[in-house]
Amino acid sequence: MRVALAHYQEIALKGQNRPWFIRHLARNVRDALAGLDVGDVRLPMGLVEIPLGDSVDVTEVRRRLAQVFGLANFALAHRVAPDVDAITEAVLRDLPRGSPVASFRVEVRRAHKQFPVKSPVVERHIGGLVQDATGWKVDLSHPAFTVWIEIVPKAAYYYYGREPGAGGLPTGTGGRVLALLSGGIDSPVAAWRMMRRGCHATFVHFHGHPFTSHASIDKVRELVRVLAPYQLGAHLMLIPFGELQRQVTVTVPGPMRVVVYRRLMLRIAERLARKVHAQALVTGDVVGQVASQTLANLAVIGAATDLLTIRPLVSMAKEDITREARALGTYPISILPDEDCCTLFTPRHPLTRAKRHQVEAAERDLPMAEMVDAAAAGPVIEQVEWPVVKSPPGR
Ligand code: ATP
Ligand code: MG
Repeated sequence: MRVALAHYQEIALKGQNRPWFIRHLARNVRDALAGLDVGDVRLPMGLVEIPLGDSVDVTEVRRRLAQVFGLANFALAHRVAPDVDAITEAVLRDLPRGSPVASFRVEVRRAHKQFPVKSPVVERHIGGLVQDATGWKVDLSHPAFTVWIEIVPKAAYYYYGREPGAGGLPTGTGGRVLALLSGGIDSPVAAWRMMRRGCHATFVHFHGHPFTSHASIDKVRELVRVLAPYQLGAHLMLIPFGELQRQVTVTVPGPMRVVVYRRLMLRIAERLARKVHAQALVTGDVVGQVASQTLANLAVIGAATDLLTIRPLVSMAKEDITREARALGTYPISILPDEDCCTLFTPRHPLTRAKRHQVEAAERDLPMAEMVDAAAAGPVIEQVEWPVVKSPPGR
């Protein structure tokens, strides 16, 4: 029988909480594959097994499994009886023989310790027969091709290639966060890194429309579409920010405005976080990247909220962030031109060493509480569903 077979890694270390992590993982796998011709997810001894139906689109199965956090790797495999002869016959029958193979090895994992034959014995036995049948050369250390065999109490699996999974921890095991998405390169990577730790992210974007164009909103929507599959759907909150910025210009001197805008964003975000039960804010700040991200400014900005504010990229080099953005698929969206709301009413040379007392003094003349109330009151919320077909209720 054809199955998809996946392994988890970090969860295996979770001690007493392990069953709880694995339950989340199994549910997420099931939900990620909703609408496809697959059977019920099973969890035999450290494995995740998904039976594949005759009409299943395996490319789609692979695409979706690659985005399930908590999976270390996965493979399209076959299930047979846990019996050496049955395994051997099936492995030989299904060997892909289309293209030449420079070298190979057989790798057996025997999670079923009562299985009567030891792994190295099975490896040598099947390896010898594969060699006889194909003429391929054995290479135990750097094989070009591997025949994988796994034996659990009631079944054995074999497969010939496996793919890396998304790693990390299953979505839902890490609590909720509110991720601030600007439309730039950094913030989607920051959000994704927290999602990979098992956190479910709700996204918020502050935009300058109608003072600026729609471009940043369109970009953020696209970014959320790229990120949402990793956590099986997402909500995006859109907050009009231009009018607040205009109000800021009335009392706050030009060079200080970016810091005040950012403090305002954090205060509003804190309010929104409480609405969606998020326990932390996530931003894409990186020390030294731009004027608003000096240590001095980050400290003054961060002081605007008591809510835990996580900056996963804070110490990263730009080229490393860019590489992650490319791998994630957000980079081409992030570099599209837009009009960042923060450039509204700001001079070219903002303050790099904000002093908290000066900023607080400048803010005193603003109706801060009302501004925050108004902005947080009625966010426009857009929903991205994933997968588009949900599994029927009760499954
Ligand atoms: P990014 O590449 O994410 O835009 P950046 O290097 O341009 O980051 P800033 O523009 O200083 O840095 O923004 C720092 C962080 O503040 C962003 O990563 C994001 O988390 C948040 N942020 C900035 N502008 C907005 C916005 N308009 N809406 C939501 N969050 C924002
Ligand atoms: Mg930016």
